[in-house]
Amino acid sequence: MSGRLLLASGNPHKLTELRRLVELAGLDLQVLGLRDLTGWSDPVEDGASFEDNALIKAEAGHRASGWATLADDSGLEVDVLGRMPGVRSARWAGPGASDLDNLELLLRQLADVEPARRQARFVCAVALVQADRPPLVLRRAVEGVVLTGPRGENGFGYDPIFLPDDYEITTAEMTAAQKDAISHRGQALRALLPSLAELAAA
Ligand code: IMP
Repeated sequence: MSGRLLLASGNPHKLTELRRLVELAGLDLQVLGLRDLTGWSDPVEDGASFEDNALIKAEAGHRASGWATLADDSGLEVDVLGRMPGVRSARWAGPGASDLDNLELLLRQLADVEPARRQARFVCAVALVQADRPPLVLRRAVEGVVLTGPRGENGFGYDPIFLPDDYEITTAEMTAAQKDAISHRGQALRALLPSLAELAAA
């Protein structure tokens, strides 16, 4: 029988991404999403850091399912804004804000900031919670700059305005595979692979 892993996220892109990674790594793991759980209600993500929020979600998923559970929390840190939007990236323009609302607000806030001071990074923390083991939490980031206008149609969130260091295209101009190879989430998930391999072999 294959091992089971719950991804405590309602984001279908993340489920697809995790399934792709598990398949590429040849792991015998069945990856389930929150839709496979009955009676799930989202925990309050009130942590002060990406790590705290990832752990809150992974612990809630593990409690509700009994399965090994992975969760992530991510966002964009802009240096000149004191590393904001940070954990508030998804609701930067207010509760219920769309990706476009958030992106446009950020561009307005940076309107007078010269290119050399537009450094930013996408950060992702992932947490893996399973029975009889301490939780594992780790963070990865990809450095870059915020452009003055959007470029590209792929990805989501702030991708159209994020130019990673050493690249001439935004993460919204990359293919999914190109972005996975360098992204904060791709790196964090790959760093978890040894633990996922142990889970698959258990
Ligand atoms: P969460 O990790 O699902 O809570 O997402 C946090 C928010 O950070 C998203 O709604 C996006 O606004 C932003 N974000 C996180 N990762 C990315 C990314 O890979 N590209 C663009 N925006 C991202």
